[in-house]
Amino acid sequence: MKQYQQHQQYIEEAEQLLLHTYNRYQIVLERGEDVYLYDINGKKYLDFCAGIAVFALGYGNTEYKEALKSQIDKLIHTSNYFYNLPAISAAKKLTKVSGMDKVFFTNSGAEAIEGAIKAARKYAFEKDKREDHEIIAMERSFHGRTMGALSVTGNYKYREAFGPMIGNIRFALMNDWEDLESKVTERTCAILLETVQGEGGIYPAEKEFLQKIRQLCDERDILLILDEIQCGMGRCGTMFAYQEYGILPDILTTAKALGCGVPVGAFLMNQKTAEGSLKAGDHGTTYGGNPLACAAVDKVLDLFEENHIIENVAKTGAYLARRLDELVDKYDFITARRGKGLMQGLVFEMPVRGVIEKAMEKGLIIINAGECILRFVPPLVITQEHVDVMISILEDCFRECIAERDQV
Ligand SMILES: *Cc1c(COP(=O)(O)O)cnc(C)c1O
Repeated sequence: MKQYQQHQQYIEEAEQLLLHTYNRYQIVLERGEDVYLYDINGKKYLDFCAGIAVFALGYGNTEYKEALKSQIDKLIHTSNYFYNLPAISAAKKLTKVSGMDKVFFTNSGAEAIEGAIKAARKYAFEKDKREDHEIIAMERSFHGRTMGALSVTGNYKYREAFGPMIGNIRFALMNDWEDLESKVTERTCAILLETVQGEGGIYPAEKEFLQKIRQLCDERDILLILDEIQCGMGRCGTMFAYQEYGILPDILTTAKALGCGVPVGAFLMNQKTAEGSLKAGDHGTTYGGNPLACAAVDKVLDLFEENHIIENVAKTGAYLARRLDELVDKYDFITARRGKGLMQGLVFEMPVRGVIEKAMEKGLIIINAGECILRFVPPLVITQEHVDVMISILEDCFRECIAERDQV
């Protein structure tokens, strides 16, 4: 009882002090181990959220922690007036696994999007010296909360009250080629999309749609920007999701799992874009690419390879999809599954907040993507056994939901 009161006290204190921009779940987390989280009362949770697709390696990976500790002892920050070794090493590995040529490290996903927007506008400016270029983004997209990123986010709910946006953004329907084509004009400088839409409800781009965009961009010298902040870094079964589509973007944004918990993002570009866009003085950041963040990226990329993360996503992702498909067949209130690898969504006929709260009571952390979609973005080291435990907890929750429904 005392423990519980203390827990409540912390929550009340947090609500007094932290700006209330989130309706948080009533859990105070304290530590993590493997694929489990523990709250301050010692209650254990199986984690299918991974800090929103961040903690790909799970919690408490010793090599990862040691790499960070040793970098802390050496040097945490230098500013970008100087070079540092972790940034060079991380950039070498990141360009190799992505097929891109140049990297700019940021501190978050939204900042990576800001950089991508600036690079695209500058690229077009260099060609015709005009400042009225347009960007096509997708309906239902999510690119972050800063003003530029918000301006390309195709969900009015997030933009309302914050206008005016940056301007000259046109929204097209995801996977609707005709609609997209109708939005292209002489002024279009970039087409921006998530290879697999995350927050919007786990909608993968269709192969033909993305390939046609690539072709259009090539023909008209429009830049293709792929936001893989959520769907990249192995989550969909390839290092970056576009690799399964047989195409490359001109600009790539990444973050979330890139540092596995240390705040870091990046935008990357091919040589053509780098040569034609941002030059010395055009963009900057105080923290971005600092040795601590880059030591994290560097070690994460090593560990992905050593621990065969991609192979595990392919195997366990396929298993997760199969188990979720069974749920679609079994329960009348679940209508579909969508996703790739370990980025899956289950579509419900009703809001899923109740299911999520029940799951948390039973020791499973799971989140939504939109009101009626349950989102599965576990650590990428998850196994089939963890999937089975998760499914069985979910089914317990469903049984309770059904009992409650039948009562009324
Ligand atoms: C989370 C996310 C962002 C924003 O990243 P932040 O680090 O929260 O700024 C942008 N794009 C996508 C696809 C995301 O999932």
